[in-house]
Amino acid sequence: MLTSYQVAKPELNWGDDGAPVSTQFDDVYFDKASGLEETQYVFLQHNQLESRWKELSQRHFVIAETGFGTGLNFLCAWQAFIKSAPCNSQLHFISVEKYPLSKESLAAALDMWPSLQNLSQELVTNYPELCHGFHRIELAQGRIQLSLWFGEAEEGFSALNADVDAWFLDGFAPSKNPEMWTDKLFQHIRRLSHTGTTFSTFTAAGIVRRGLKEVGFDVRKVKGFGRKREMALGELNQGCLPYPQRMAQGQGWFNIRPEETPSISKVLVVGSGLAGANTAYALAQQGIQVEVWEQGQQIACAASGNPQGMLYPKLGAQDTPLNRFYLTSYLHAARLYNQLDSSHGFWGPCGLIQIPTSDKEAKRFDKILQSNLYPKKVLQVSLEKPNSLLLPLSGWVAPSKLCKTLLAHKNISVQLGTSLQSLEKVATPLNSKTKAPFWKAHSQTKEEFFSHVVLCNANDFNDLDIQNKMPTSAIRGQVAHIDKTEAEGVCRDKGISNTSLDIKKVLCDFGYVSPPLQNTIHFGSTYDLKDPCTEVRQEGHERNLKILENLLSLPSNTLSTVKCQGRVSFRCASPDYTPIVGPLQSTDTLKLEYGNLAKNAKWQSDEVSEPLQNIFINIAHGSRGLVSTPLSGAYIASLITNTPSPLEQEVAYKLHPSRFVVKQIKRGV
Ligand code: SAM
Repeated sequence: MLTSYQVAKPELNWGDDGAPVSTQFDDVYFDKASGLEETQYVFLQHNQLESRWKELSQRHFVIAETGFGTGLNFLCAWQAFIKSAPCNSQLHFISVEKYPLSKESLAAALDMWPSLQNLSQELVTNYPELCHGFHRIELAQGRIQLSLWFGEAEEGFSALNADVDAWFLDGFAPSKNPEMWTDKLFQHIRRLSHTGTTFSTFTAAGIVRRGLKEVGFDVRKVKGFGRKREMALGELNQGCLPYPQRMAQGQGWFNIRPEETPSISKVLVVGSGLAGANTAYALAQQGIQVEVWEQGQQIACAASGNPQGMLYPKLGAQDTPLNRFYLTSYLHAARLYNQLDSSHGFWGPCGLIQIPTSDKEAKRFDKILQSNLYPKKVLQVSLEKPNSLLLPLSGWVAPSKLCKTLLAHKNISVQLGTSLQSLEKVATPLNSKTKAPFWKAHSQTKEEFFSHVVLCNANDFNDLDIQNKMPTSAIRGQVAHIDKTEAEGVCRDKGISNTSLDIKKVLCDFGYVSPPLQNTIHFGSTYDLKDPCTEVRQEGHERNLKILENLLSLPSNTLSTVKCQGRVSFRCASPDYTPIVGPLQSTDTLKLEYGNLAKNAKWQSDEVSEPLQNIFINIAHGSRGLVSTPLSGAYIASLITNTPSPLEQEVAYKLHPSRFVVKQIKRGV
């Protein structure tokens, strides 16, 4: 069990030529004189990438690597892919790294390659914080998708679901690093491969050749690079493993990856809030045409329409799949907002201070800080507020502006005032290139065909005329805003000396307040269970003003005379307060196929329950949508396009829409 999200540091020396050398492994990352040629020879040439990319018939190509190091192999693959592959195709590059370089060391190491300068700058800018786990990084406007696992190689691959086309086996030499080249690693390489998957590696060591042969690869030795006598390469001439061995872990009902990439024509996304906009964006970035149906007359007019919210992940004191989900989602969201917000003005990365709401919470914060659970760049003690945490990468977000920015993508068309009435499964239209059945979506005014549908319609999901219902509840939230100058005047009139309301960072306890936006201070929020009232209420303003006074350490009722305005919306929450993200499966079929779980909750089925054929769901993000929807959108896109999952399987399991039905079956309900 992991005790820290911190990762091990590499032990480095910089050679006379300025190239990094690992003192821990007594081995070089690359040879400065010939590093580019070596990568070209060993990895690109011996996986025949140029010719495979020129003839690429699928939308994407997947490379997986052991040992990201300086990212040199990755950058060379990126550069070659852009040169050779069709311009509508995408490269997914997965790499694992147990001892990641710091951003500064990475930049220094890559500085040596002027021909890669533009790419390395983009990589360095988007290089993730050094936290254990998966990180998905989008580069070259989405054409290059890098999935980095910081941690042990075997652990990373065991958590991964992907269909790899080519392997770069590049850990340090087996004689110097035997811990990495394990039988388990070879078994995962096999699990993630299919007929025609190739590998190449700089080494011809017997342990590597035997290991790969044993799991089914045809292995050959050829002349090594430069003075090296030999290197190894090979190909798998056996198909994918059957279920459930193909999957990282889990029961049959959870195993939904198709063996072949399904045909995709156009995807319907229902809802234009954070979940819908992020799902549509992630698909559009993969070159998929998306239509978004929004029943309202504006983008993000429900819960994602609040004028200002915050990127607030509530990181825990323990390593759990859910905490890993929120951590990786948080880092992913911050990266996306930084990438997108050059001039859109929806994001203020000012930092966020989390103030404890009870002694128990203060103790939890202490535990997090004492145990050094997170790197300082991610979470540290606040110097401004006692007993509080500072999240330096966080900040405020204007959600509806963010949704508009995401939906402005050229592959997305938004239909406002269009409400999904029903979905009808129909045979493939005659003029279609695909063989999969289609969904005919009906709105009040039109009907249209789609190959896939993603329902991102939060509390409206259960109103749809489909068999599956989700146990969600709508939680009323009233947010508020006041004029900053007026509030400062009121404070002055009451003789309160500290009258500046120049709030610099987002402050959170039970509620939140953000730095002023155009001289307006936004704060909130009420949390009203079983309260369907859509009107803004004075009583709500009073509660919100109390939250604000508390956060700003102002005496009670200081701001009671300030003119307060507000907005009401309804968060969508699930019983376990975890988002519901993944494929929809038929409740009846699950109950029929998995009835044995009632007798034995650990029963495993070799069968895969058919998903409801290309319908997905992405809802129930509660108050955390700004954190969780970008990565959830990327996850849904990976399921539709059959590309590497950005989520560990254990995490995806926690979000799965069928978890409620499976729980019911286990309880015998
Ligand atoms: N591919 C890299 C590049 O393009 O710069 C060079 C890789 S370097 C030769 C080998 C890398 O493997 C090092 O960065 C090292 O930290 C990493 N490594 C070694 N043992 C590992 C393990 N057990 N799990 C994951 N990474 C490991």
